[in-house]
Amino acid sequence: MKSYILLILYCISIISTRAQAQSILIKADAYLDVRTGKLVKPANILIEDGLITAINPQVIPDNIDKVDLGNKILLPGLMDMHVHLDLDFNGGFEHIITKESASKGAIRAVKNAEKTLMAGFTTIRNVGQGHLTTDLVNVAVSEASDEGWIKAPRIIAAGHMITITGGHGDLTLGLAEELIKVGPEHGIINGPIEALKAVRYQIKHGAKVIKIHATAGVLSLEDSVGAQQLTNEEMKVIVDEANRHHIKVAAHAHGTEGIIAAINAGVASIEHGSLINDKAMKLMKEKGVILVPTTGLVDNILSSVDKINPKMVKKARYVLPLAQQNLSKAIKAGVKIALGTDAPLIPHGHNANELSAMVARGMQPIDALRAATINSAELLGMENIGEIKIGFLADIIAVELNPIKNIETLKSVKFVMKAGIIYKQ
Ligand SMILES: [Zn+2]
Repeated sequence: MKSYILLILYCISIISTRAQAQSILIKADAYLDVRTGKLVKPANILIEDGLITAINPQVIPDNIDKVDLGNKILLPGLMDMHVHLDLDFNGGFEHIITKESASKGAIRAVKNAEKTLMAGFTTIRNVGQGHLTTDLVNVAVSEASDEGWIKAPRIIAAGHMITITGGHGDLTLGLAEELIKVGPEHGIINGPIEALKAVRYQIKHGAKVIKIHATAGVLSLEDSVGAQQLTNEEMKVIVDEANRHHIKVAAHAHGTEGIIAAINAGVASIEHGSLINDKAMKLMKEKGVILVPTTGLVDNILSSVDKINPKMVKKARYVLPLAQQNLSKAIKAGVKIALGTDAPLIPHGHNANELSAMVARGMQPIDALRAATINSAELLGMENIGEIKIGFLADIIAVELNPIKNIETLKSVKFVMKAGIIYKQ
């Protein structure tokens, strides 16, 4: 009797998976093998149960849905390692920080997540939230995406960024004392014990990456732009605790000393890295630390300076041109780079601007595409995304032109599939 019931349950489970399983054949002119940099013609990609199961197969199964994309070129879904989905930029963030509920922030994040997916970005890392609540807004959106409730990329979310009282990322800096109370749950820490509390709170509530602010920033009101903020000891405590949970740490760092301190603490990526020098580059290469330069935001910030606080503008005018020059040096030195926009500083949905910006700093187009695919996958520690390859998740986009020759074509992605589901055609 017992085995009979098990058999029935087994049959039901087969029927229900079959009902969800979608087999699709995508036909296009070519696909880009981002690892070799070669265009492969033709591109007949068989997708079953969300995975790529065959490329240019001899035999095509009967009764299969076919999507003919004509002369378009296929690429793996793009990735952005530095976004803030619950923020939009309008010269500052104060209106969101002081006036918007976490609930509305989640809806804002859903809106921005859909824009990001439609731009061809199928996986993103959300490195910190703008809403000063103990609710982890972007973690909620990430889970909603995983459960298929919303049209969104796969989101690896950080919860709150971890910083010092009055540091970059202490979003109450500039507000009246006592207006908003913050502590380790909000990522504001003083000392190793609070650092530990902050990490454990974010991880307990679903963070899959931890973001720290090793140094001062540009769009915040503290005086320095490059000075180290978290102590060496605080950073070490955070990284060690996150690593015990098999979670990686991303470090916002502009100044040279802070960059080096974060690398020595064991972070996986340096965000911005504006004042990176030869010593820091060498250390990053030795330790396999990835640079996420967020270089496209320079053009965006410098074109909207009239809306930004003058103190921030002064910092931006000082550090951002240096950051551009130093990125060119890092590219030449062969530092491994992953794509990050710092959206909304490049507006959500315009994430591909970063590819053009990296090329403008001297990167080869294929390397910009690698930054947006295989290098990002490596940073996330995900081995089944970032390439059009048998056994990989079917994250596939299509563009009109060969992106190696026309990087701008990535700004108007025509087709988006994530894990075998078509979101844009
Ligand atoms: Zn950021």
